[in-house]
Amino acid sequence: MTRPVVPPSRGLSVAVKTAKSRTAASQRWLARQLNDPYVAAARQQGWRSRAAFKLLELDNRFKLIRPGARVLDLGAAPGGWTQVTVRRDAGSVLALDLLPIDPIHGAVIMQGDFTDPDMPRRLTVALGGPADLVLSDMAPNTTGHAATDHIRIVGLAEMALDFAERILAPGGGFVAKVFQGGSERGMLDTLKRNFTNVRHAKPPASRKESSELYVVALGFKGGSSD
Ligand code: SAM
Repeated sequence: MTRPVVPPSRGLSVAVKTAKSRTAASQRWLARQLNDPYVAAARQQGWRSRAAFKLLELDNRFKLIRPGARVLDLGAAPGGWTQVTVRRDAGSVLALDLLPIDPIHGAVIMQGDFTDPDMPRRLTVALGGPADLVLSDMAPNTTGHAATDHIRIVGLAEMALDFAERILAPGGGFVAKVFQGGSERGMLDTLKRNFTNVRHAKPPASRKESSELYVVALGFKGGSSD
């Protein structure tokens, strides 16, 4: 059964009054927030972020979250994806972020840096068994330099994949945010070797002007990973 995502309706456009204290960039950000139907829908439906809609849409399309599944959510703050996995009946959910996350009933929350050498061991212990799904919506702070930002986000996604391959149960799934570019080729080759089904997806909730997209890999082959 495909569970619906209520499509956010386009309301009237809200004009933002100029204020001396606001920079042009924050003025643009505020106007975009006020006129973004996903922001309004997230607030109405109780999601902590508009990003929740991206996972809802990916899950409707790829059936990622199985009832009872053990899910690891990397880069989880403020918690929209974690809320989605809990509400879609995952069995246990572990959420990690550099930033604090307010408690979410049904999820275990950890604060820390995924790139810490000790983090994979701590996550493995906290998970208490193989994962069925590893999600990475991690995004480093952007520098504004597209090539640098691309390399950094792919680096995080590659580390997440490396870790996922160590803790996923056979048949498990992996989803990670990347940016359109080209240097994710090596990662794609690894994914295609180790998963039966690898796709790129840009959910409708992902802003058109953003080069963000997601790799979705399903059917982890287990033991054959390199
Ligand atoms: N999926 C989230 C949601 O639905 O609310 C939004 C995630 S936000 C786009 C990306 C997050 O990645 C940020 O909160 C950031 O702190 C986190 N992040 C970036 N680098 C990280 C790292 N090295 N370790 C842990 N979290 C990281």
